[in-house]
Amino acid sequence: MTTAFGQSTVLGYPRIGTDRELKKAVEAYWAGTIDATALEKTAARLRAEVWLALRNARLDGIPSNTFSYYDHMLDTAVAVGAIPDRFRRLGLSELDTYFAMARGVDTEPALELTKWFTTNYHYLVPEIDADTVFTANPGKALREYAEARALDVTTRPVLVGPATFLLLSKGDDPFARLDDLVDTYALLLTALGEAGVTWVQLDEPAYAADRTPAEIQALRRAYTRLGQVEHRPRIFVATYFGELGEALPALLDTPVEAIGLDLVAGPGNLRRLAAVGPLRGKTIVAGLVDGHNVWRTDLRAAVTAGATVAGLADNVAVSTSCSLLHVPMDLSTETHLDPQLYERLAFARQKVDEVVQLGKALRDGTAHLPEPLPPLPPAWRRHDVRARLAALSVSDRQRGDYETRAAHQQQRLRLPELPTTTIGSFPQTAEVRRARAELRAGTLDEAGYTARMHAEIARVIRLQEELGLDVLVHGEPERNDMVQYFGEQLDGFAATAHGWVQSYGSRCVRPPIIYGDVARKTPMTVQWSAYAQSLTLKPVKGMLTGPVTILAWSFVRTDQPLADTADQVALALRDECHDLQAAGITVIQVDEPALRETLPLRTADQKAYLDWAVGAFRLATCGVGDDTQIHTHLCYSEFGEVLTAIDALDADVTSIEASRSKMEVLDDLAAIGYRRGIGPGVWDIHSPRVPSQAEVTGALRRAVAAVPAQRLWVNPDCGLKTRGYAEVEASLRHLVAAATEVRAH
Ligand code: GLN
Ligand code: ZN
Repeated sequence: MTTAFGQSTVLGYPRIGTDRELKKAVEAYWAGTIDATALEKTAARLRAEVWLALRNARLDGIPSNTFSYYDHMLDTAVAVGAIPDRFRRLGLSELDTYFAMARGVDTEPALELTKWFTTNYHYLVPEIDADTVFTANPGKALREYAEARALDVTTRPVLVGPATFLLLSKGDDPFARLDDLVDTYALLLTALGEAGVTWVQLDEPAYAADRTPAEIQALRRAYTRLGQVEHRPRIFVATYFGELGEALPALLDTPVEAIGLDLVAGPGNLRRLAAVGPLRGKTIVAGLVDGHNVWRTDLRAAVTAGATVAGLADNVAVSTSCSLLHVPMDLSTETHLDPQLYERLAFARQKVDEVVQLGKALRDGTAHLPEPLPPLPPAWRRHDVRARLAALSVSDRQRGDYETRAAHQQQRLRLPELPTTTIGSFPQTAEVRRARAELRAGTLDEAGYTARMHAEIARVIRLQEELGLDVLVHGEPERNDMVQYFGEQLDGFAATAHGWVQSYGSRCVRPPIIYGDVARKTPMTVQWSAYAQSLTLKPVKGMLTGPVTILAWSFVRTDQPLADTADQVALALRDECHDLQAAGITVIQVDEPALRETLPLRTADQKAYLDWAVGAFRLATCGVGDDTQIHTHLCYSEFGEVLTAIDALDADVTSIEASRSKMEVLDDLAAIGYRRGIGPGVWDIHSPRVPSQAEVTGALRRAVAAVPAQRLWVNPDCGLKTRGYAEVEASLRHLVAAATEVRAH
């Protein structure tokens, strides 16, 4: 029975295991404590668990090849033979070559890691150029298909589609290689077809972003060609994360049998579908269950949307809006959540049930759907918070004029030219982690914990004084994670116990859930910052995570606009800024590393986002006096599209990742008229390498050429949490010495 997908499918599923078994196995393999056979055994067990769970849930269309040891883009690169020579030359086994591309080896840096669309997942960027020789390696997809068959589960292998693959690659015009790559996909399809595969899924999410007419034309050409492959499986082109726009009619023109549309992030897809008229011979896979958030679906509304699709196409199937990779695996492991919250949530496993229910309801009517959810508990609404938000005026998001502020700040801080500082965290030592774990386990009491944190803070302050840094930090030893730390202390946030989501490779995060109005109970950071400040005459920077980043790295409520939730978080941070200032903190940094990350894919949607994002940051930071210096910090991306927004944040100082891009961001910022303090990172903290003093001096000299020295700060690219003390000390010594050298000209 493989007419289509039946009624229900999902675009992908988490692969890390409910207890992060894959993370543990992969890390054990890297550490050399298990061998490849043991690793493969764990992997096979995890795959089998997923397939059987999906089958037992009575899901009709079950994906395979969604398992990955590290990343599905990397898997696709391997499937098309796009292994750069620099890795082939290492002469490693297939598995170790794969991990070398993912993590690098002593002599070869890894592929670049970057954000997967608007999610917090990171993929490895394939390196493609004119010389790349594509070859078809269907091995992994075939093995997984056969493995599932042996369990009596028929699956649909999933690959990243050729157009998206190249659009996300880097090199000398990768997209120019599309025709060659499509030939290789044709071979992959043939191999899968010969093995008995009846459906294959090719993901083309890149077409939910703005694309040129030529790119859309290329998509049409690619799938027309793939449609002509003989003995191929039927092709399902999945799109997600937004609206397809002009790419939809282009795809409909091709012989592909099924097209997936995200109706959650791209409700306009439905209008577009209606506009192109009745679709003969196509299956539309309606992404009605949100794969990118943790809320239960309004099943009745979803059935209505599904019925609209059914009226337009020959065949309709229900699916998740995107792969379930982006949500935790199973809600049923969360035993301590508030029942009123629990009943509103659905993780991957529960979303599969929803898809199945929707598929049935589309066929048999809504009579068997579960009861709709009761209204939101009144206690989740905070009238005080709402009244405060309603009373805000424009002036709450404005500070005095910058020149005046700068003069007041300089009078108070008396910093030298080219002041040196760091981004916040210092290496998290084993003792620090142990103290946090013991506090959680109850074997260490509050007082004992505070004493250990104070000892660590004192050590970090002493070190910075000894190194001769100008603006110190407390080192953030008390923070497990820059968002989780605040989520645990704010009303309206819930933490999960096992809600792990893969961020990249073996790294998983546990995003908090913002379910109700946000309010601050008590000061969240003041005691640590004030303690640090009490130990030194130099200014200690208070350290907060900004509202946009807090939202970006949480699961956010969908019953009100993101802008409103961001403002609620901003008010809590505004109070924190106020209290830090009152405690004698003169410099406060509000980190917004995710500002670029949640930028909507379509330009038409970007202004509205940036307006509320900037507004929330300003609400958080504009309540302080002129003589309190506000810093912000950005990293993890190129900032091209958001430079004007960075300027609009109106921070007194912006520290920004720059060392890899050779300070280009300085010219870009100057070009849009940015005139306040700027700290371009002069040390790439993403690698354990210690930059020499000469290197840092060189970077600084480039910076001084682009920006007047009076506005220039000297700092690393990002926090030092993941580094070791030996590298940090040596690097900071070089950084301070370089600043001294350049000051003296
Ligand atoms: N203040 C944070 C730190 O230093 C900033 C982290 C980040 O930008 N991702 O760790
Ligand atoms: Zn950073």
